[in-house]
Amino acid sequence: QVPLKPGRSLMDWIRLTKSGKDLTSLKGRLIEVTEDELSKHNKKEDCWICIRGFVYNVTPYMEYHPGGEDELMKAAGTDGTDLFDQVHRWVNYESMLKECLVGRMAVKPVAAPKGFFPHVLVFLGRCYNGFLTELLKEPEVFNLVVLSKLLTSNLVFKSTNYDWFQTDSLITIVIYTKQKDMNAELVIVDCQDKQLRGEIILDDHSYLLGIDLDHAVSEDVTVNIAEKVGKVEIILNKKDNIHWKMLGQPWEGHNTFIKCTDRGLFYRKCKLVAKTEVTHDTKLFCLMLPKGTHLRVPTGQHVYLKQVIAGTEVVKPYTPVLPFLPLDFQEPPRHDGVHIYLMIKIYSHGLFTQALDHLQIGDYISVSNPEGNFKKSKIQTSEDLLLLAGGTGFTPMVKLLNFALTEVSCLRTVKLIFFNKTEGDILWRNQLEQLALKDQRFEVQFILSQPSKDWVGKQGKISSSLLSEFVKRSRNDSKVLICICGPAPFTEQGVQYLKDLGYSQEEIHAFTA
Ligand code: FAD
Ligand code: NAP
Repeated sequence: QVPLKPGRSLMDWIRLTKSGKDLTSLKGRLIEVTEDELSKHNKKEDCWICIRGFVYNVTPYMEYHPGGEDELMKAAGTDGTDLFDQVHRWVNYESMLKECLVGRMAVKPVAAPKGFFPHVLVFLGRCYNGFLTELLKEPEVFNLVVLSKLLTSNLVFKSTNYDWFQTDSLITIVIYTKQKDMNAELVIVDCQDKQLRGEIILDDHSYLLGIDLDHAVSEDVTVNIAEKVGKVEIILNKKDNIHWKMLGQPWEGHNTFIKCTDRGLFYRKCKLVAKTEVTHDTKLFCLMLPKGTHLRVPTGQHVYLKQVIAGTEVVKPYTPVLPFLPLDFQEPPRHDGVHIYLMIKIYSHGLFTQALDHLQIGDYISVSNPEGNFKKSKIQTSEDLLLLAGGTGFTPMVKLLNFALTEVSCLRTVKLIFFNKTEGDILWRNQLEQLALKDQRFEVQFILSQPSKDWVGKQGKISSSLLSEFVKRSRNDSKVLICICGPAPFTEQGVQYLKDLGYSQEEIHAFTA
């Protein structure tokens, strides 16, 4: 993020896109863009970028880009899809940049060598049904570039398959993932209005089942997982006791197994059921998943919320927490499977959080599938866990703390070093202090950057000296994991100080966008 000039906020951009101004300089025409043409528009004052086959004139957006003009210029005159996916795949550019759309990339068909095409199609047909159907619908799109991309990235064929059967009242779909250690966090199911979407996460890949069901089913869905053998059952209740001749019509992408990053984010509408104060500016939002949704957000992962603000879809990430810090760590708290809790700071000039704060109990908001690159296994082998949080950077630490103290037997110490501006900004201070009293392994240290004169605790900003004072191994050879989250510069500086203090990259996990 870079500081933007006044008048260049996201809201200002939305206003400009609604002003009726011709942002592409093409007077509303859409054109086919050749690679040659695209490459000519590579300057700040004339900049086109291609994302997923669509070309945008981003010249007017330059000054509004939160990541700065230089970042945007990295993709000037080229296909910026990969760069975009690396940095912010979740930003809904289609909505944000719709007034900048120049047109589609012209596709250059490449002649396939004789005898090669049918062969490959048969092979692809076996393992990549959905995509192939698409290719055959638009044969002119089929070229060797597409094919080689498929073979090298998407087409990691794993023989996940599914089956279904029925009784008078039930439809049972069985997916054989052939993956050991399947668990509820890896299965996301949404069933609504005769549409069934099931996604299974297998490492960094996603298997999708997407079907327009043949007949109506009731809202509630049951998901059973046989963890050891990797079998997943989705059980639907028929609305009418009739015999189904088929399960339904498959969607595009049904029965495919592709990289998670290539699968679009899926959203479902969740109801706001409670909103409680945490501090003067931070609230705990409790959202209720629809009845037909099975979704668990894994420790260390976030979701995206989507709202339409002034006619434009805006998306922001948030990290689910627990409703409170459990003090009794005898057994893991049971997830009720229905509610998602979000601890969100409302900024007085914040575009998204102001809109969130205006939601009423009973209103709906779109919530995405979870994302994030934190692996729980990193804690499972740690003896010392150190958590460095700045402001709402505390949110990923909540589930992490809970997981560490309940499920990691080799952990000796867990220490949270929590940086805030003032005493009034400290989130869940009481709960943290109680937890420290209750569990000998846990210790919390509050550090304030703008304390009042009454503050007798530690004072300062994240620095090498503060970290060398508080970040220590309990034994010289103990295995340590340090997690850090907060404002981007806080996290970046923190990681650098830790490295300077001799901690290795493997010992540090930074939560970033
Ligand atoms: P914005 O409109 O973006 O503005 C926020 C504040 O910053 C305002 O005061 C604004 O004036 C100022 N500002 C914005 N941009 C600039 C700029 N370029 N230069 C100078 N000032 C600027 N937040 C939580 O509260 N809880 C969470 O659980 C949480 N989880 C997150 C998880 C991830 C992975 C990430 C990346 C972020 C998370 N956030 C979380 C932050 C959240 O996504 C939003 O960024 C935050 O809510 C602010 O949104 P907003 O639209 O209201 O504010
Ligand atoms: P804040 O109240 O503004 O700041 C919290 C503490 O961090 C304060 O002590 C503050 O000190 C310090 N700080 C702020 N900027 C700093 C900098 N440049 N260098 C050193 N210290 C700095 O924080 P917030 O408003 O709650 O914001 C939390 C941030 O965490 C947001 O940016 C959010 O996006 C991020 N977050 C990320 C994730 C994730 O998973 N990636 C999850 C949750 C939140 P001073 O301001 O006094 O200097």
